[in-house]
Amino acid sequence: MLQSMYGAMGISREVFAFGAEIEKEQKDRFDQIDRMAEVNQLKVLMAMQKNRISAEHFNGSTGYGYNDAGRDGLEDVYADVFHTQAALVRPQITCGTHALSLALSANLRPGDELVSISGKPYDTLEEVIGIRPSRGSLAEYGVTYAQVDLTPEGHFDYDAIRAAIGPKTRIAAIQRSKGYLTRPSLPVEEIGEAIAFVKSIAPEVLVMVDNCYGEFVCEKEPSDYGADMTVGSLIKNPGGGLAPIGGYIAGTKECIENCAVRLTSPGLGREVGASLDVMRSLYQGLFLAPTVTAGALKGAVFAANLYERLGFKVIPDGRAPRTDIIQAVEFGFPEGVIAFCEGIQAAAPVDSYVTPEPWAMPGYDSDVIMAAGAFVQGASIELSADGPMKPPYAVYFQGGLTWQHAKAGILMSLQRLYEKGLVKL
Ligand SMILES: *Cc1c(COP(=O)(O)O)cnc(C)c1O
Repeated sequence: MLQSMYGAMGISREVFAFGAEIEKEQKDRFDQIDRMAEVNQLKVLMAMQKNRISAEHFNGSTGYGYNDAGRDGLEDVYADVFHTQAALVRPQITCGTHALSLALSANLRPGDELVSISGKPYDTLEEVIGIRPSRGSLAEYGVTYAQVDLTPEGHFDYDAIRAAIGPKTRIAAIQRSKGYLTRPSLPVEEIGEAIAFVKSIAPEVLVMVDNCYGEFVCEKEPSDYGADMTVGSLIKNPGGGLAPIGGYIAGTKECIENCAVRLTSPGLGREVGASLDVMRSLYQGLFLAPTVTAGALKGAVFAANLYERLGFKVIPDGRAPRTDIIQAVEFGFPEGVIAFCEGIQAAAPVDSYVTPEPWAMPGYDSDVIMAAGAFVQGASIELSADGPMKPPYAVYFQGGLTWQHAKAGILMSLQRLYEKGLVKL
């Protein structure tokens, strides 16, 4: 039955059989992922019960948004999920970059220094910080920047961190996921060690963690290890595919108050900010996020093992423990990246009939091909892939609202490679 349905979608017998073989070998791994989802499901469930979430929390507000119980309740739920004193979670936070920019600008003052201790930050933060000169950057406000690269093996360089932290240092920033770099993503425990190290040499320095793509992948979050601010996007993991917009910052009361007055206005802070009509989606998305993330994670593990078996380099490798949902596959030739993305697009529930093509994009120094057919524009918790058209010709892919859809997308990517004679089965 299943095979004939895949056949009707254009997946050949050979591709189906190869996928089935790989899937069968992942049973223990998938069981582990399911248990992780169970832990995180209970975490979210208990946070909602503790805060007595009820139908009135979904009503939303307009105008100033005074006494918006839904908005305040959601922030309390996030604070409980992340085990922090407070959280700021709102549709007015437009994306992950905005949440990170807000966390930084709200807690830095002229003369302060920001130090990234996990190497070069995510591309969009270069303009936030002013690494690339940009209008409105932190550099324009007199905030300086220092960077400590990870060791060649991808670990924190403690001697260099000690040397970089000085009297001007106000925030130490850590990025959990590798983004578009080839370094490994950082395990939460390792982030925890780095937080403890920073606090041991400079207790007054705040630690901010860019948690994008990492939420609900492990039992603990960076906030459980004492990060002052843990930051992410709601169109990634914690939005569960339902949040149409938003970002979150979970952290200490002091940091979150700074973020609130920076987001709205001094004197107003968290008291204003209408939630409009999105509250139900933010609550329900958070409720589904642990299982949605688990589905995406199974897709990543499946793809890693499948392409590894075909002889390609995959990062992380098929057996590596996971700290985020990103999977990279290095094809080494451009046709591989293109065929992969075509397959992902062809398997999408939305815009499946369009063919992605490499194109020049702002901020990139080579053409980029992107595949996404998402319910929420640009949502990367939904199955999506992209790859810059330059060596090593790697494709980065992530997401899948369900494991079953992630599997269909990955099989379709393999089908395209197979049809073009780029792989032998
Ligand atoms: C996606 C991402 C961001 C930025 O989030 P946007 O919502 O795209 O602005 C920042 N850091 C990392 C590691 C990311 O993966």
